[in-house]
Amino acid sequence: MFRFTLSRFLIRLTMAHTATPVDDKPPPPVPKEEPAPNGDKPEEEPDWADDEVKLDALDSGIDPEDSTANVEITRADPTEPYKSASTFEEIGLSEELLKGVYAMKFQKPSKIQAASLPLILPKADGTRSNLIAQGHNGSGKTACFVLGMLSHVDSSKTQTQAVCIVPTRELARQIVGVIEAIGKFTSATVRLVVKETDEERRIAREQMRNRTEKPPPAHVVVGTPGKLMDLVKRRALDISAASVVVLDEADEMVNTQGMGDQTLRIKRHLPPTVQTLLFSATYSDGVRELAKRMAPNANHIWVKRETLSLDKVSQYYFRVGNAAERYSVLQEIYETLTLGQTIIFVRTRNAAQTLTENLRADGNAVSVLYGGSMSPEERDRVIDEFRHGTTKVLVTTNVLSRGVDVRAITAVINYDLPMDPTGVEADPETYLHRIGRTGRFGTKGVAINLVHDEKSMRILTDLEKYYDKKIVEVTEVEDLERHIKML
Ligand code: ADP
Ligand code: MG
Repeated sequence: MFRFTLSRFLIRLTMAHTATPVDDKPPPPVPKEEPAPNGDKPEEEPDWADDEVKLDALDSGIDPEDSTANVEITRADPTEPYKSASTFEEIGLSEELLKGVYAMKFQKPSKIQAASLPLILPKADGTRSNLIAQGHNGSGKTACFVLGMLSHVDSSKTQTQAVCIVPTRELARQIVGVIEAIGKFTSATVRLVVKETDEERRIAREQMRNRTEKPPPAHVVVGTPGKLMDLVKRRALDISAASVVVLDEADEMVNTQGMGDQTLRIKRHLPPTVQTLLFSATYSDGVRELAKRMAPNANHIWVKRETLSLDKVSQYYFRVGNAAERYSVLQEIYETLTLGQTIIFVRTRNAAQTLTENLRADGNAVSVLYGGSMSPEERDRVIDEFRHGTTKVLVTTNVLSRGVDVRAITAVINYDLPMDPTGVEADPETYLHRIGRTGRFGTKGVAINLVHDEKSMRILTDLEKYYDKKIVEVTEVEDLERHIKML
Protein backbone atom coordinates (compact mmCIF):
# COMPACT_ATOMS: atom_id res chain seq x y z
CA MET A 1 0.00 0.00 0.00
CA PHE A 2 2.98 2.28 0.30
CA ARG A 3 3.86 1.96 -3.32
CA PHE A 4 2.96 5.53 -4.13
CA THR A 5 3.43 7.14 -0.77
CA LEU A 6 6.43 9.24 -1.42
CA SER A 7 5.99 9.88 -5.09
CA ARG A 8 5.57 13.56 -4.37
CA PHE A 9 9.19 13.60 -3.35
CA LEU A 10 10.39 12.17 -6.57
CA ILE A 11 12.03 15.24 -7.91
CA ARG A 12 13.19 15.26 -11.45
CA LEU A 13 16.44 17.11 -11.79
CA THR A 14 16.33 18.04 -15.41
CA MET A 15 18.45 20.32 -17.49
CA ALA A 16 17.03 23.66 -16.55
CA HIS A 17 17.73 25.21 -19.93
CA THR A 18 18.60 23.82 -23.30
CA ALA A 19 20.91 26.71 -23.97
CA THR A 20 23.13 27.49 -21.02
CA PRO A 21 22.44 31.01 -19.80
CA VAL A 22 25.43 33.25 -19.25
CA ASP A 23 25.03 33.12 -15.49
CA ASP A 24 25.34 29.38 -15.40
CA LYS A 25 28.62 29.33 -17.25
CA PRO A 26 31.36 28.09 -15.01
CA PRO A 27 33.71 30.93 -14.12
CA PRO A 28 37.20 30.71 -15.54
CA PRO A 29 39.36 28.29 -13.60
CA VAL A 30 40.98 29.77 -10.53
CA PRO A 31 44.64 30.44 -11.31
CA LYS A 32 46.84 27.73 -9.96
CA GLU A 33 48.66 28.45 -6.74
CA GLU A 34 52.41 28.17 -6.57
CA PRO A 35 53.19 24.47 -6.36
CA ALA A 36 54.00 23.12 -2.92
CA PRO A 37 57.76 23.11 -2.27
CA ASN A 38 58.00 19.39 -2.88
CA GLY A 39 55.81 19.45 -5.98
CA ASP A 40 53.12 16.81 -6.22
CA LYS A 41 54.72 14.56 -3.67
CA PRO A 42 52.93 14.51 -0.34
CA GLU A 43 55.16 15.57 2.49
CA GLU A 44 56.31 12.82 4.82
CA GLU A 45 56.46 13.49 8.52
CA PRO A 46 59.10 11.45 10.30
CA ASP A 47 57.04 10.74 13.40
CA TRP A 48 54.11 9.31 11.47
CA ALA A 49 53.50 5.74 10.48
CA ASP A 50 54.94 4.88 7.08
CA ASP A 51 51.64 4.62 5.33
CA GLU A 52 50.34 7.94 6.64
CA VAL A 53 50.62 10.84 4.31
CA LYS A 54 50.32 14.41 5.43
CA LEU A 55 49.21 16.88 2.84
CA ASP A 56 50.40 20.39 3.29
CA ALA A 57 47.70 23.02 3.30
CA LEU A 58 49.34 24.55 0.24
CA ASP A 59 48.84 21.31 -1.60
CA SER A 60 45.16 22.03 -2.08
CA GLY A 61 45.39 25.73 -2.67
CA ILE A 62 43.66 26.38 0.64
CA ASP A 63 44.58 29.36 2.74
CA PRO A 64 47.22 27.98 5.13
CA GLU A 65 45.66 30.12 7.88
CA ASP A 66 42.44 28.17 7.52
CA SER A 67 42.28 25.83 10.48
CA THR A 68 39.98 23.47 8.59
CA ALA A 69 42.92 22.69 6.30
CA ASN A 70 44.40 20.51 8.99
CA VAL A 71 43.58 16.93 8.01
CA GLU A 72 45.61 13.71 7.85
CA ILE A 73 45.15 11.05 5.23
CA THR A 74 45.84 7.36 5.64
CA ARG A 75 45.38 5.28 2.55
CA ALA A 76 44.37 1.65 2.43
CA ASP A 77 46.99 1.16 -0.27
CA PRO A 78 49.75 3.77 0.01
CA THR A 79 51.28 2.64 -3.27
CA GLU A 80 48.25 3.82 -5.24
CA PRO A 81 48.91 7.14 -6.95
CA TYR A 82 47.08 9.91 -5.13
CA LYS A 83 46.96 13.66 -5.43
CA SER A 84 44.58 16.03 -3.76
CA ALA A 85 43.05 18.67 -6.01
CA SER A 86 43.48 22.42 -6.06
CA THR A 87 40.65 23.14 -8.49
CA PHE A 88 37.34 21.46 -9.18
CA GLU A 89 38.42 20.89 -12.81
CA GLU A 90 41.31 18.75 -11.68
CA ILE A 91 39.08 16.37 -9.78
CA GLY A 92 37.70 14.82 -12.93
CA LEU A 93 34.02 15.54 -12.38
CA SER A 94 31.63 15.36 -15.29
CA GLU A 95 30.80 18.57 -17.16
CA GLU A 96 27.29 18.58 -15.63
CA LEU A 97 28.57 18.24 -12.08
CA LEU A 98 31.18 20.91 -12.63
CA LYS A 99 28.43 23.24 -13.79
CA GLY A 100 26.44 22.38 -10.67
CA VAL A 101 29.38 23.19 -8.43
CA TYR A 102 29.87 26.57 -10.07
CA ALA A 103 26.16 27.31 -9.92
CA MET A 104 26.60 26.93 -6.14
CA LYS A 105 29.22 29.70 -6.45
CA PHE A 106 31.93 27.42 -5.08
CA GLN A 107 35.16 28.71 -6.55
CA LYS A 108 37.65 26.21 -5.29
CA PRO A 109 37.41 23.05 -3.26
CA SER A 110 37.76 23.19 0.50
CA LYS A 111 40.44 20.99 2.01
CA ILE A 112 38.09 18.11 2.75
CA GLN A 113 36.72 18.32 -0.80
CA ALA A 114 40.19 18.49 -2.33
CA ALA A 115 41.37 15.58 -0.23
CA SER A 116 38.33 13.31 -0.34
CA LEU A 117 37.00 13.61 -3.88
CA PRO A 118 40.02 11.95 -5.53
CA LEU A 119 39.57 9.12 -3.02
CA ILE A 120 35.85 8.79 -3.76
CA LEU A 121 35.96 8.84 -7.56
CA PRO A 122 36.97 5.68 -9.45
CA LYS A 123 40.61 4.67 -9.61
CA ALA A 124 42.41 4.07 -12.90
CA ASP A 125 41.09 0.51 -13.01
CA GLY A 126 37.52 1.76 -12.53
CA THR A 127 37.14 0.41 -8.98
CA ARG A 128 36.27 2.57 -5.99
CA SER A 129 37.44 2.44 -2.39
CA ASN A 130 35.59 2.93 0.85
CA LEU A 131 36.29 6.12 2.78
CA ILE A 132 36.05 7.15 6.40
CA ALA A 133 36.36 10.91 6.43
CA GLN A 134 36.56 13.36 9.28
CA GLY A 135 36.30 17.05 8.47
CA HIS A 136 35.68 20.17 10.52
CA ASN A 137 32.21 21.53 11.05
CA GLY A 138 31.09 23.72 8.18
CA SER A 139 34.00 22.72 5.93
CA GLY A 140 31.84 21.43 3.08
CA LYS A 141 31.54 17.69 3.66
CA THR A 142 28.08 17.54 2.07
CA ALA A 143 29.38 18.47 -1.37
CA CYS A 144 32.00 15.68 -1.07
CA PHE A 145 29.47 12.91 -0.77
CA VAL A 146 26.82 14.56 -2.95
CA LEU A 147 29.32 14.75 -5.82
CA GLY A 148 30.40 11.23 -4.93
CA MET A 149 26.85 9.90 -5.14
CA LEU A 150 25.99 11.78 -8.32
CA SER A 151 29.17 10.50 -9.95
CA HIS A 152 27.73 6.99 -9.51
CA VAL A 153 24.45 7.74 -11.23
CA ASP A 154 23.85 6.37 -14.68
CA SER A 155 20.54 8.03 -15.46
CA SER A 156 19.79 5.62 -18.30
CA LYS A 157 19.21 3.01 -15.61
CA THR A 158 15.91 3.18 -13.73
CA GLN A 159 17.15 1.88 -10.42
CA THR A 160 18.32 3.32 -7.13
CA GLN A 161 22.08 3.68 -7.32
CA ALA A 162 22.96 5.77 -4.25
CA VAL A 163 21.66 5.67 -0.69
CA CYS A 164 22.36 8.34 1.93
CA ILE A 165 21.45 7.63 5.56
CA VAL A 166 21.32 10.47 8.08
CA PRO A 167 20.07 10.88 11.64
CA THR A 168 17.30 13.46 11.27
CA ARG A 169 14.53 14.59 8.94
CA GLU A 170 15.91 18.16 8.91
CA LEU A 171 19.29 16.95 7.71
CA ALA A 172 17.77 14.63 5.09
CA ARG A 173 15.72 17.53 3.68
CA GLN A 174 18.77 19.78 3.64
CA ILE A 175 20.87 17.20 1.80
CA VAL A 176 18.12 16.64 -0.79
CA GLY A 177 18.30 20.42 -1.38
CA VAL A 178 22.06 20.22 -1.98
CA ILE A 179 21.65 17.25 -4.35
CA GLU A 180 19.01 19.17 -6.31
CA ALA A 181 21.28 22.20 -6.52
CA ILE A 182 24.53 20.42 -7.42
CA GLY A 183 22.71 17.93 -9.64
CA LYS A 184 20.72 20.62 -11.43
CA PHE A 185 22.44 19.96 -14.76
CA THR A 186 22.23 16.18 -14.57
CA SER A 187 19.13 14.05 -15.08
CA ALA A 188 19.52 12.27 -11.77
CA THR A 189 16.39 11.94 -9.64
CA VAL A 190 16.29 12.10 -5.86
CA ARG A 191 13.78 10.89 -3.31
CA LEU A 192 13.43 12.02 0.28
CA VAL A 193 12.59 9.15 2.62
CA VAL A 194 11.36 10.49 5.95
CA LYS A 195 8.10 10.24 7.86
CA GLU A 196 5.28 11.60 5.68
CA THR A 197 3.23 14.64 6.58
CA ASP A 198 -0.58 14.24 6.72
CA GLU A 199 -0.84 16.00 3.36
CA GLU A 200 1.57 13.54 1.78
CA ARG A 201 -0.39 10.63 3.18
CA ARG A 202 -3.56 12.08 1.72
CA ILE A 203 -1.96 12.47 -1.72
CA ALA A 204 -0.61 8.92 -1.53
CA ARG A 205 -4.06 7.57 -0.69
CA GLU A 206 -5.57 9.49 -3.58
CA GLN A 207 -2.96 8.15 -5.97
CA MET A 208 -3.76 4.63 -4.79
CA ARG A 209 -7.46 5.20 -5.35
CA ASN A 210 -6.89 6.60 -8.82
CA ARG A 211 -4.33 3.89 -9.51
CA THR A 212 -1.85 6.49 -10.68
CA GLU A 213 1.06 4.89 -12.44
CA LYS A 214 3.95 4.02 -10.15
CA PRO A 215 6.86 6.44 -10.65
CA PRO A 216 10.23 4.95 -11.58
CA PRO A 217 12.65 4.49 -8.66
CA ALA A 218 14.80 7.51 -7.88
CA HIS A 219 18.51 7.27 -8.64
CA VAL A 220 19.44 8.70 -5.25
CA VAL A 221 17.56 8.25 -1.97
CA VAL A 222 18.22 10.22 1.20
CA GLY A 223 16.53 9.37 4.44
CA THR A 224 16.46 8.51 8.08
CA PRO A 225 17.23 4.87 8.92
CA GLY A 226 13.85 3.92 10.38
CA LYS A 227 11.87 5.13 7.41
CA LEU A 228 14.34 3.75 4.86
CA MET A 229 14.15 0.32 6.46
CA ASP A 230 10.39 0.55 6.62
CA LEU A 231 10.16 1.08 2.85
CA VAL A 232 12.75 -1.61 2.11
CA LYS A 233 10.75 -4.09 4.19
CA ARG A 234 7.52 -3.18 2.44
CA ARG A 235 9.29 -3.53 -0.91
CA ALA A 236 8.45 0.08 -1.65
CA LEU A 237 12.16 0.75 -2.07
CA ASP A 238 14.68 -1.53 -3.76
CA ILE A 239 18.27 -0.74 -2.88
CA SER A 240 19.75 -4.03 -4.04
CA ALA A 241 21.40 -2.43 -7.07
CA ALA A 242 22.88 0.58 -5.25
CA SER A 243 26.61 1.04 -5.76
CA VAL A 244 27.25 3.64 -3.05
CA VAL A 245 26.01 4.20 0.48
CA VAL A 246 26.77 7.36 2.43
CA LEU A 247 26.49 7.76 6.18
CA ASP A 248 26.53 11.44 7.12
CA GLU A 249 27.11 12.12 10.83
CA ALA A 250 28.63 8.68 10.51
CA ASP A 251 29.75 8.28 14.12
CA GLU A 252 26.11 8.55 15.15
CA MET A 253 25.03 6.23 12.34
CA VAL A 254 27.44 3.43 13.29
CA ASN A 255 27.23 3.78 17.05
CA THR A 256 25.44 0.87 18.68
CA GLN A 257 24.21 3.35 21.31
CA GLY A 258 22.80 5.44 18.47
CA MET A 259 21.54 4.28 15.10
CA GLY A 260 24.14 1.57 14.42
CA ASP A 261 21.75 -1.37 14.47
CA GLN A 262 19.35 0.29 12.09
CA THR A 263 22.14 1.21 9.69
CA LEU A 264 23.45 -2.35 9.71
CA ARG A 265 20.00 -3.67 8.92
CA ILE A 266 19.82 -1.42 5.84
CA LYS A 267 23.35 -2.33 4.82
CA ARG A 268 22.34 -5.99 4.62
CA HIS A 269 20.02 -5.08 1.76
CA LEU A 270 22.82 -3.43 -0.20
CA PRO A 271 25.19 -5.37 -2.45
CA PRO A 272 28.37 -6.48 -0.65
CA THR A 273 30.42 -4.54 -3.18
CA VAL A 274 28.76 -1.21 -2.35
CA GLN A 275 31.15 1.72 -1.88
CA THR A 276 30.75 2.94 1.70
CA LEU A 277 31.45 6.58 2.52
CA LEU A 278 31.44 7.82 6.10
CA PHE A 279 31.53 11.52 6.95
CA SER A 280 31.52 13.29 10.30
CA ALA A 281 33.32 16.00 12.25
CA THR A 282 33.74 13.65 15.19
CA TYR A 283 34.67 10.01 15.74
CA SER A 284 35.13 9.23 19.40
CA ASP A 285 37.67 6.48 20.12
CA GLY A 286 34.78 4.17 20.90
CA VAL A 287 33.18 4.38 17.47
CA ARG A 288 36.28 4.28 15.28
CA GLU A 289 36.36 0.50 15.29
CA LEU A 290 32.66 0.36 14.45
CA ALA A 291 33.28 2.75 11.59
CA LYS A 292 36.07 0.56 10.27
CA ARG A 293 33.80 -2.46 10.43
CA MET A 294 31.09 -0.62 8.52
CA ALA A 295 33.61 0.52 5.88
CA PRO A 296 36.34 -2.12 5.64
CA ASN A 297 39.63 -1.50 3.81
CA ALA A 298 38.81 2.19 3.67
CA ASN A 299 40.98 5.18 3.03
CA HIS A 300 40.90 7.43 6.08
CA ILE A 301 40.94 11.17 6.58
CA TRP A 302 41.43 12.20 10.20
CA VAL A 303 41.55 15.50 12.05
CA LYS A 304 43.57 15.86 15.27
CA ARG A 305 41.25 16.40 18.19
CA GLU A 306 43.02 19.57 19.38
CA THR A 307 42.46 21.21 16.02
CA LEU A 308 38.78 20.29 15.79
CA SER A 309 37.16 23.28 17.45
CA LEU A 310 37.14 26.17 15.07
CA ASP A 311 39.05 29.35 15.86
CA LYS A 312 36.27 31.27 14.14
CA VAL A 313 33.85 30.26 16.90
CA SER A 314 34.66 32.17 20.11
CA GLN A 315 33.70 30.14 23.13
CA TYR A 316 32.57 31.77 26.36
CA TYR A 317 30.87 30.81 29.57
CA PHE A 318 28.78 32.85 31.95
CA ARG A 319 28.34 31.69 35.52
CA VAL A 320 25.09 32.26 37.37
CA GLY A 321 24.03 31.31 40.89
CA ASN A 322 21.10 29.05 40.00
CA ALA A 323 18.58 28.02 37.34
CA ALA A 324 16.35 31.07 37.91
CA GLU A 325 19.26 33.44 37.31
CA ARG A 326 20.17 31.51 34.19
CA TYR A 327 16.73 32.27 32.80
CA SER A 328 16.99 35.97 33.69
CA VAL A 329 20.32 36.26 31.86
CA LEU A 330 18.82 34.71 28.76
CA GLN A 331 15.94 37.14 28.90
CA GLU A 332 18.30 40.05 29.39
CA ILE A 333 20.35 39.22 26.33
CA TYR A 334 17.35 38.36 24.12
CA GLU A 335 17.53 41.62 22.10
CA THR A 336 21.16 40.96 21.31
CA LEU A 337 20.40 37.43 20.19
CA THR A 338 18.01 38.66 17.52
CA LEU A 339 20.71 40.78 15.85
CA GLY A 340 21.76 37.62 14.04
CA GLN A 341 20.16 34.22 14.44
CA THR A 342 20.55 32.11 17.55
CA ILE A 343 20.07 28.48 18.49
CA ILE A 344 19.48 27.70 22.15
CA PHE A 345 20.16 24.09 23.14
CA VAL A 346 18.49 22.39 26.07
CA ARG A 347 18.66 18.78 27.19
CA THR A 348 15.10 17.46 26.96
CA ARG A 349 11.90 18.01 25.00
CA ASN A 350 10.18 19.09 28.20
CA ALA A 351 12.89 21.63 28.89
CA ALA A 352 12.50 22.95 25.33
CA GLN A 353 8.75 23.37 25.79
CA THR A 354 9.03 25.00 29.20
CA LEU A 355 11.76 27.43 28.19
CA THR A 356 9.82 28.39 25.08
CA GLU A 357 6.61 28.94 27.02
CA ASN A 358 8.39 31.08 29.59
CA LEU A 359 10.19 33.21 27.02
CA ARG A 360 6.97 33.73 25.09
CA ALA A 361 5.03 34.59 28.25
CA ASP A 362 7.67 37.23 28.90
CA GLY A 363 7.11 38.71 25.47
CA ASN A 364 10.04 37.21 23.54
CA ALA A 365 9.40 35.71 20.11
CA VAL A 366 11.03 32.28 19.90
CA SER A 367 10.36 29.15 17.90
CA VAL A 368 10.92 25.61 19.10
CA LEU A 369 11.80 22.29 17.49
CA TYR A 370 12.19 18.87 19.08
CA GLY A 371 11.68 15.24 18.11
CA GLY A 372 9.07 12.78 19.30
CA SER A 373 5.67 14.32 19.73
CA MET A 374 6.16 17.17 17.27
CA SER A 375 4.44 16.51 13.93
CA PRO A 376 6.49 16.32 10.72
CA GLU A 377 4.64 19.30 9.22
CA GLU A 378 5.33 21.38 12.32
CA ARG A 379 9.02 20.47 12.24
CA ASP A 380 9.23 21.40 8.56
CA ARG A 381 7.47 24.71 9.14
CA VAL A 382 9.69 25.67 12.09
CA ILE A 383 13.01 24.82 10.42
CA ASP A 384 11.96 26.44 7.13
CA GLU A 385 10.98 29.67 8.89
CA PHE A 386 14.28 29.65 10.74
CA ARG A 387 16.23 28.95 7.54
CA HIS A 388 14.54 31.88 5.84
CA GLY A 389 15.27 34.15 8.81
CA THR A 390 11.58 34.75 9.54
CA THR A 391 12.31 33.57 13.07
CA LYS A 392 15.49 34.59 14.81
CA VAL A 393 15.76 32.53 17.96
CA LEU A 394 15.19 28.79 18.00
CA VAL A 395 15.01 26.67 21.13
CA THR A 396 15.87 23.04 20.44
CA THR A 397 17.35 19.78 21.69
CA ASN A 398 20.16 17.63 20.32
CA VAL A 399 17.88 16.78 17.38
CA LEU A 400 19.36 19.86 15.68
CA SER A 401 22.85 19.56 17.10
CA ARG A 402 24.24 18.01 13.91
CA GLY A 403 24.49 18.94 10.29
CA VAL A 404 22.08 21.85 10.06
CA ASP A 405 23.61 24.54 7.87
CA VAL A 406 22.11 27.99 8.36
CA ARG A 407 24.70 30.63 7.55
CA ALA A 408 23.00 33.43 9.51
CA ILE A 409 23.38 31.64 12.85
CA THR A 410 25.84 33.82 14.73
CA ALA A 411 25.26 32.56 18.26
CA VAL A 412 24.81 29.17 19.85
CA ILE A 413 23.73 29.05 23.47
CA ASN A 414 24.14 25.97 25.58
CA TYR A 415 21.41 26.64 28.11
CA ASP A 416 22.00 23.07 29.25
CA LEU A 417 25.50 21.78 28.63
CA PRO A 418 25.65 18.60 26.51
CA MET A 419 25.80 15.48 28.63
CA ASP A 420 25.94 11.76 27.92
CA PRO A 421 22.67 9.78 28.19
CA THR A 422 23.23 9.12 31.90
CA GLY A 423 23.30 12.87 32.52
CA VAL A 424 26.55 12.63 34.44
CA GLU A 425 29.46 13.11 32.05
CA ALA A 426 30.16 15.69 29.36
CA ASP A 427 29.33 14.75 25.77
CA PRO A 428 32.22 16.34 23.87
CA GLU A 429 31.08 15.20 20.42
CA THR A 430 27.67 16.79 20.83
CA TYR A 431 29.32 19.94 22.19
CA LEU A 432 31.46 20.28 19.07
CA HIS A 433 28.49 19.69 16.76
CA ARG A 434 26.29 22.15 18.64
CA ILE A 435 28.80 24.99 18.54
CA GLY A 436 29.50 24.09 14.92
CA ARG A 437 26.04 25.36 13.96
CA THR A 438 27.76 28.73 13.81
CA GLY A 439 31.05 29.61 12.13
CA ARG A 440 30.03 27.83 8.92
CA PHE A 441 32.57 27.84 6.09
CA GLY A 442 34.81 30.53 7.47
CA THR A 443 32.15 32.81 8.99
CA LYS A 444 32.50 33.95 12.59
CA GLY A 445 30.36 32.87 15.49
CA VAL A 446 30.02 32.85 19.22
CA ALA A 447 29.19 29.97 21.55
CA ILE A 448 27.91 30.80 25.03
CA ASN A 449 27.69 28.26 27.80
CA LEU A 450 25.49 29.04 30.78
CA VAL A 451 26.89 27.46 33.90
CA HIS A 452 24.52 27.37 36.86
CA ASP A 453 25.80 24.74 39.28
CA GLU A 454 28.81 22.66 40.21
CA LYS A 455 27.98 19.88 37.82
CA SER A 456 27.72 22.16 34.80
CA MET A 457 31.02 23.78 35.85
CA ARG A 458 32.70 20.37 35.95
CA ILE A 459 31.29 19.48 32.53
CA LEU A 460 32.55 22.74 31.10
CA THR A 461 36.05 22.09 32.47
CA ASP A 462 35.98 18.59 30.98
CA LEU A 463 35.04 20.01 27.57
CA GLU A 464 37.91 22.48 27.77
CA LYS A 465 40.34 19.68 28.55
CA TYR A 466 38.99 17.37 25.86
CA TYR A 467 39.56 19.83 23.03
CA ASP A 468 42.48 21.58 24.71
CA LYS A 469 40.71 24.85 24.10
CA LYS A 470 40.03 27.58 26.60
CA ILE A 471 36.43 28.61 27.14
CA VAL A 472 36.65 32.20 28.35
CA GLU A 473 34.66 33.40 31.34
CA VAL A 474 32.47 36.48 30.93
CA THR A 475 31.30 38.08 34.16
CA GLU A 476 29.03 40.96 33.11
CA VAL A 477 25.88 40.70 31.02
CA GLU A 478 27.07 43.81 29.13
CA ASP A 479 30.28 42.02 28.19
CA LEU A 480 28.32 39.01 27.06
CA GLU A 481 26.26 41.28 24.83
CA ARG A 482 29.39 42.98 23.54
CA HIS A 483 30.88 39.64 22.48
CA ILE A 484 27.71 38.75 20.58
CA LYS A 485 27.50 42.19 18.96
CA MET A 486 31.14 42.13 17.88
CA LEU A 487 30.42 39.52 15.22
P1 ADP B 1 29.85 20.29 6.85
O1 ADP B 1 28.92 19.19 6.45
O2 ADP B 1 31.27 19.97 6.59
O3 ADP B 1 29.63 20.76 8.26
P2 ADP B 1 28.45 21.74 4.80
O4 ADP B 1 28.62 20.70 3.77
O5 ADP B 1 27.11 21.87 5.43
O6 ADP B 1 29.54 21.55 5.96
O7 ADP B 1 28.92 23.12 4.17
C1 ADP B 1 28.93 24.32 4.91
C2 ADP B 1 28.68 25.49 4.00
O8 ADP B 1 29.79 25.71 3.15
C3 ADP B 1 27.48 25.30 3.10
O9 ADP B 1 26.68 26.44 3.16
C4 ADP B 1 28.07 25.11 1.72
O10 ADP B 1 27.24 25.60 0.71
C5 ADP B 1 29.37 25.89 1.80
N1 ADP B 1 30.44 25.36 0.93
C6 ADP B 1 30.78 24.07 0.80
N2 ADP B 1 31.83 23.94 -0.07
C7 ADP B 1 32.15 25.17 -0.49
C8 ADP B 1 33.15 25.69 -1.38
N3 ADP B 1 34.02 24.90 -1.98
N4 ADP B 1 33.19 27.04 -1.58
C9 ADP B 1 32.31 27.85 -0.94
N5 ADP B 1 31.35 27.43 -0.07
C10 ADP B 1 31.26 26.10 0.16
MG1 MG C 1 27.48 18.13 7.46
